[in-house]
Amino acid sequence: MSTPARQYDATVLRRERLSAHLVRLVLGGPGLASFASTGIPDEWVGLVVPGQFQSRYYTVRSWSRGELTLDVVVHDHGLVTEWATRDIVGETVTITEPRGSFAPPDDAQWLVLVGDVTGLPAMARILETVSLPSRVWAEVGDPLGDYLPERAGVDVTWLAPPADAESALAAVVEAMDWPAGPGYFWMAGESGQMRAIRKHLMRERRGTAYDVMGYWRGGAKRQPRAVDPGPIWRAGKAAGQSDEQIWAAYDAARESS
Ligand SMILES: Cc1cc2nc3c(=O)[nH]c(=O)nc-3n(C[C@H](O)[C@H](O)[C@H](O)COP(=O)(O)OP(=O)(O)OC[C@H]3O[C@@H](n4cnc5c(N)ncnc54)[C@H](O)[C@@H]3O)c2cc1C
Repeated sequence: MSTPARQYDATVLRRERLSAHLVRLVLGGPGLASFASTGIPDEWVGLVVPGQFQSRYYTVRSWSRGELTLDVVVHDHGLVTEWATRDIVGETVTITEPRGSFAPPDDAQWLVLVGDVTGLPAMARILETVSLPSRVWAEVGDPLGDYLPERAGVDVTWLAPPADAESALAAVVEAMDWPAGPGYFWMAGESGQMRAIRKHLMRERRGTAYDVMGYWRGGAKRQPRAVDPGPIWRAGKAAGQSDEQIWAAYDAARESS
């Protein structure tokens, strides 16, 4: 049995629109006094917005001086989307304790990071905290070219989302030239694309360390229940499962929700 995640009350201190579809929320207040980052750069928290009891999951873009920054995609319709589109400064939300899964092997000589706009906050934080040479593919519709930190050894390709599909990231990875030597592949975005890539990696890239995470599920109406990755993560780790097995179990849990 996994223990429930700790929860914290937080106040929306600031709300800033970074682009047409990306809203930055800075949370703070005394309820976050005992909040502690895991230090894992793709760590996420559950967010429950006022008047709701269901969580949605957001990457900790930063945690500094008692302020927790989340960058939230506002899309066509959704529980958090509708809330984050309003003037919400001063409102109180509930946050769960953070969890992260980014874990490159000790001998990694490179990173490949692939994601849509929901993966952008984690990719930015990974690039800020890990100094390995990094190849990045970001599928983003808005002009967010300055969102990712620039540093030597980082090569970013910006891709526009296709007009006729939710994402084409799987095809990009299937056609990719891989760096030589040991490294780490990290990818997040729409679940169907992630499932396709897990299969591709199993077939073509056995031996490459990777973490491939379905961050949202396309093609559905409003999701009746979001599944908390935290307990699945903890239970999987306790059972000695690989990251790949844990994220596949997470996808399966969402499929049956
Ligand atoms: C570990 C983890 C970290 C994440 N980090 C972030 C993050 O930093 N920033 C972020 O914005 N999201 C992040 N996500 C994704 C986010 O949790 C989902 O996109 C969530 O469904 C959004 O909730 P909502 O209330 O807006 O929409 P929901 O009420 O959950 O969904 C409503 C409808 O919108 C569709 N939908 C959901 N998300 C999207 C989307 N991004 N684009 C288009 N359609 C969508 C669904 O298919 C559904 O039909 C993360 C997810 C996980 C698991």
